[in-house]
Amino acid sequence: MTPRVVIAFGSNLGDRAETIVAAAREIADLPGIELTALSSLHETPALKPHGVDFAAPAYLNAIAIVETDLDPHELLARLREIEQQHGRVREERWGDRTLDLDIIDADGMAVTTDDLTLPHPRAHERAFVLEPWLEVDPEAVLSGRRVSDLLAEAPR
Ligand code: ADP
Ligand code: MG
Repeated sequence: MTPRVVIAFGSNLGDRAETIVAAAREIADLPGIELTALSSLHETPALKPHGVDFAAPAYLNAIAIVETDLDPHELLARLREIEQQHGRVREERWGDRTLDLDIIDADGMAVTTDDLTLPHPRAHERAFVLEPWLEVDPEAVLSGRRVSDLLAEAPR
């Protein structure tokens, strides 16, 4: 069976909805990838290293499920190209951005390298990831835990 990969979208600058919808289409158009689900857009306050920042522009977040045989590093490289096409400038980590694309999980595969950690190390506590994910897959599991249980425990 083709591995199922969960991708998270975030945008808090520019036309957020248009950017996310365009990026989803670009992901679907990548060779070797089939987009099987796309959540609705969820608006959430910006999260900075010191906590929620209500002064920063709010995010729109979404989740896509794709089926792909691409190696996760290869997929991350393609996602970075799409981020860059949407004008992302890589400055401060967790900074405001037109588009952030994160790989959340690739069928439970464990990866720990300098530029890629899977499953995504903070996804389990991020309601803005878990909620749209549940919308497209109510039975979703992350690192052996039900995503519905993780969401119930996630800080709001
Ligand atoms: P963040 O997504 O944490 O706000 P960035 O998008 O700037 O921050 O990414 C920081 C780094 O995280 C990137 O250089 C990327 O290589 C790395 N990274 C590690 N694991 C992942 C993952 N699962 N998905 C996306 N990026 C990842
Ligand atoms: Mg990122």
